[in-house]
Amino acid sequence: MNDCIFCKIIAGDIPSNKVYEDDKILCFRDIAPMAPVHLLVIPKVHICSADCITEENADVIAHIFTTIPKIAKQEGISEDGYRIITNHGTNGRQSVKHLHFHILAGKLLPENMG
Ligand code: 5GP
Ligand code: ZN
Repeated sequence: MNDCIFCKIIAGDIPSNKVYEDDKILCFRDIAPMAPVHLLVIPKVHICSADCITEENADVIAHIFTTIPKIAKQEGISEDGYRIITNHGTNGRQSVKHLHFHILAGKLLPENMG
């Protein structure tokens, strides 16, 4: 998508601090980290949010969730733990309209989820 900031990161038009990349997904560090480790995992295909997941695009979602443990090991956060978050829409406070999974780690995260 032309005006999508994450599509521009995938295309290399906007720089990012890459942690993992393959032909289907990209993982990079969040520009405004909310924890000592704050990663974003995104599909290379533009999917608007978790609310836009369908049977047709589900393969890449499975790939994201089978790759996250590998990324976690690489980052050294498996043992102490991490949180995976995805936001959809206004009430979910989604600011970038390209599906992304936040991985937060590196400290004991807040108990309150909202
Ligand atoms: P959301 O609020 O949509 O769930 O999360 C969007 C996330 O993307 C935010 O945590 C924000 O800091 C991050 N973000 C927005 N623009 C950029 C960018 O240009 N580069 C990187 N690395 N992260 C970004
Ligand atoms: Zn996009």
